[in-house]
Amino acid sequence: MSSNILVINCGSSSLKFSVVDSASGQQPITGLAERLGDTGAVVSIKSSGNDKIIIDIPNGEHDKALSTILDHLQQQDLLETIQAVGHRVVHGGEQFTDSTVIDDQVLLAIEACNHLAPLHNPANLIGIRTCQKLLSNVPHVAVFDTAFHQTMPEQAYLYPIPYELYKEQGIRRYGFHGTSHRYVSMALADTLGKPLESLNLISAHLGNGCSAASIQGGKSIDTTMGLTPLEGLVMGTRSGDVDPSLHHFLCSQMKMSIDEVNTLLNKKSGLLGLSSLSNDMRTLEQASQDGNQQAELAIQVFCYRLAKHIAALAVPLGHIDGLIFTGGIGENSVAIRQRVLALLAVLGFKIDDEQNKSAGKSQHGLITQPESTPAYVVNTNEEWMIAKDTQAAIQ
Ligand code: AMP
Repeated sequence: MSSNILVINCGSSSLKFSVVDSASGQQPITGLAERLGDTGAVVSIKSSGNDKIIIDIPNGEHDKALSTILDHLQQQDLLETIQAVGHRVVHGGEQFTDSTVIDDQVLLAIEACNHLAPLHNPANLIGIRTCQKLLSNVPHVAVFDTAFHQTMPEQAYLYPIPYELYKEQGIRRYGFHGTSHRYVSMALADTLGKPLESLNLISAHLGNGCSAASIQGGKSIDTTMGLTPLEGLVMGTRSGDVDPSLHHFLCSQMKMSIDEVNTLLNKKSGLLGLSSLSNDMRTLEQASQDGNQQAELAIQVFCYRLAKHIAALAVPLGHIDGLIFTGGIGENSVAIRQRVLALLAVLGFKIDDEQNKSAGKSQHGLITQPESTPAYVVNTNEEWMIAKDTQAAIQ
């Protein structure tokens, strides 16, 4: 029997799932439930080789979406092949340094991290609890976005603010996208045929959310995101780093509430805010080619800040065995990789334009010249990483 794992990524009004063969990484079925709780609630399911199926579940909540998905798996004779469920959980605080089989204690500990990720953890918990009810005969495993970065040293994770805020409130840098950074660093070591323990890597996950990490011997030693996923790089709608006094300035000078500032920095900033056009890099690249100056400016700020952060992440590594580009932008945008490596000439990067153009889907492509500090495109696969972790945790 194949060792299939059901991977669940549950948001407040959406639920993404895939059935993953933890040995091969193949995903016979994937899907997404959206607009949960709304009249337009819908489940779309894609089986390999088949067209997408759309099932309306008007006003359906997570339980209805999940029972619809499980019915479908039953019809496809896949339900009995599910050995465990792997749940993506955004915040594991300092408690979770690894993926963990979920029991009542673990549920309480995840709940105790809710204040650190109020938009994400409560939704992740809804997914876990609903799934546990409907699939009570298999183990459930939590895989945390933060766990990979728990190896960061104090000098990387502490903010220079009163120490008791860390000790008493847990205010520190945690980092996110850990599953992706871990996957691409392992995949690159595999491709190179070198032990991960011997490699000093920088991984840049550039999607709608963006973060980069210094990975030494397979362990994260610094990253760009912090207490929340707002810190660090310019993202689709998130600002990344700004002057910490900006909040005070906007509240006192522009009479914004603190919630309005939070929404501004998380939902209206980044590429969208700078370009006044879109959070989508494809749209901005096209607009820039068509002469839109503001779109060009947004891309320039994105690349400049990214290059500065990558240079900073080289500090704890000493030398770089590989820079990895991944995520929707990192894997697909020839132009962004070209611009960023040009800005990073100081670190010895020299792009190979032909290889940069041909790198992309289903390749682990070297995109630099032989004498250069090496840079690669590696396609991320968070679902497979979650499935592998789940398999390992139940064993
Ligand atoms: P993700 O969150 O990983 O799905 O990445 C989404 C981002 O990847 C969006 O900004 C997309 O515009 C960007 N993206 C996807 N394909 C391309 C492409 N061919 N060129 C540039 N950006 C792309």
